[in-house]
Amino acid sequence: MSDPAPVPARPAIVRDPGAMTLTEPAPDTQSYTCPRCQDDVVEAWYGPCSSCRAQLRADQGGEAREIVQEDYVPKMNVTPNAVATKD
Ligand SMILES: [Zn+2]
Repeated sequence: MSDPAPVPARPAIVRDPGAMTLTEPAPDTQSYTCPRCQDDVVEAWYGPCSSCRAQLRADQGGEAREIVQEDYVPKMNVTPNAVATKD
């Protein structure tokens, strides 16, 4: 048997230069049109503007409340067989 031929090196992967990397610092601010109120706003991240967020919190936000959950009771799907219950 002869030695196998050397495997050629893979071509380098060229990344999209426009893509944001995780090592880039976050943008301070950007100006865009608010998707909710259609105003031109300057915010750090794209999304509803500050006034829209405040209104959404007032409309949609609720008070935290205690959730009372009943204890889990396992359901008996199978009747015990005669061997297991035999004395
Ligand atoms: Zn808005």
